[in-house]
Amino acid sequence: MSRTNQFGGSLSEGIKKRVVVIGAGIVGASTAWHLARRGCEVTVVERDEQSAIPESASGGNAGLLSIGHYPLTRPGASWRGMRWMLSRTAPLYIKPRLDRELISWLWNFHLHCNQRSLDRSMSLLAEMGWQTLTVLEEMLSTEQIACDYARDGWLDVVLKKENMAAAEAEARALERYGYAWERLDGDALRKRDPCFRAEVAGAIHMKDSAHCAPNDLIAGLVAALPRHGVTMRYGCAARNFRQSRSGTISAVELANGETLHADAVVLAAGVWSDALGRLAGVKIPLQGARGYHAQLDLPDADRPALPSTGLVLHETFVAVTPMERGGKKQLRLAGTLEIGPLDQPWMRERLSMLFKGSAAYLHGIDRLVRTSEWAGYRPCTSDGLPAVGAVRRKPGLFVATGHAMMGMTLGPVTGKALAQLIVGQRPCFDLSMLDPERFE
Ligand SMILES: Cc1cc2nc3c(=O)[nH]c(=O)nc-3n(C[C@H](O)[C@H](O)[C@H](O)COP(=O)(O)OP(=O)(O)OC[C@H]3O[C@@H](n4cnc5c(N)ncnc54)[C@H](O)[C@@H]3O)c2cc1C
Repeated sequence: MSRTNQFGGSLSEGIKKRVVVIGAGIVGASTAWHLARRGCEVTVVERDEQSAIPESASGGNAGLLSIGHYPLTRPGASWRGMRWMLSRTAPLYIKPRLDRELISWLWNFHLHCNQRSLDRSMSLLAEMGWQTLTVLEEMLSTEQIACDYARDGWLDVVLKKENMAAAEAEARALERYGYAWERLDGDALRKRDPCFRAEVAGAIHMKDSAHCAPNDLIAGLVAALPRHGVTMRYGCAARNFRQSRSGTISAVELANGETLHADAVVLAAGVWSDALGRLAGVKIPLQGARGYHAQLDLPDADRPALPSTGLVLHETFVAVTPMERGGKKQLRLAGTLEIGPLDQPWMRERLSMLFKGSAAYLHGIDRLVRTSEWAGYRPCTSDGLPAVGAVRRKPGLFVATGHAMMGMTLGPVTGKALAQLIVGQRPCFDLSMLDPERFE
């Protein structure tokens, strides 16, 4: 028998709970891992084949586990976005179009770009951030996942001297959440990492974060799930939900015609959760903010020095992450935000921005060998916070999406909190601000 528990989840007493998780990105895979370890019978339904998982957003991202990161909704961000709208090579490009959903999303985004909203969001994001690396480290050590994980912070690298004060002010504002930082002037930075050009003014070292090779992390995590009894259904898209007259979600219909019955269904399909949610009668308006990466190999001869940790280049917003993959040292350049309809052809000029945006900071970028290019979507809500929790109007349905540029970082703790909610335990952080029904 099912009943609602005090945290808004549902309990099936005495029965092993059957849960279907839609999506094997970092959010879905983390949720499945925590559910299985709490005794649930879990099936993960993933549209892609297993070999494509490292190419999802959860594999192609920059790999910065940047706890204490600000959300997109920062004071002034909406006005800056409007100005940038006309330039195809601005860091944030919004393809101009008359689309009611986009206009309503942008309006709500604008309403949240203020200090009060930022302070409110940061108090929760910072709390999630503090927990998430512990949760991730438990996963990595339990499953012996080798993904070049290093908890050595990240550098906000500033090219222009006049921008150092602003970078320092941003770091100082994070002190109240307990995050530690250090200012490095140009010479100290070059002494630490000789790869930086003489023109670079300095950096802020945010000390508590980590970085990894995300493709290896997500591949290792999904490979570990069957060892905990999770059934992985790859190449299998969820097409719809089955619900009773009262709205209780009881099954997921697959594109191949099968129906998977469940006591709980977790919608963790990244940016595609919006369209799927609407089929169940739930509105989680998401915009897909596309970003790109270029993976670079070091030639054996004439090897330029690599940064020792992950970086974000302050003026160009390009993330630069060193990672060792298959015994080889590599560098990933990642970034740019492009809001437009899904599945449009790549904007090659935006991929080039990664090179232009890093050459001014780093020696020898042009001597590295480009081995692959990639594009993927960040699932963005209009208020800068993820959507995580139970859908009260649709008992049995749970949502975990909308992590935008922080999904790799916050996916592990999201998975833990949602699994706790589903089995009737108190979630490890308060989910009320992330209510998936707040957009209705
Ligand atoms: C360029 C770039 C750089 C980034 N850098 C960072 C970073 O440094 N740090 C950080 O924390 N975050 C970063 N992010 C954000 C992060 O990658 C995302 O927030 C995160 O990967 C979202 O994870 P997810 O599990 O919600 O979605 P996804 O990884 O997109 O997974 C969703 C899965 O659902 C599947 N799916 C979709 N529809 C269906 C269906 N109908 N049936 C079954 N399966 C379905 C998809 O195939 C996919 O595998 C970056 C993103 C980009 C694009």
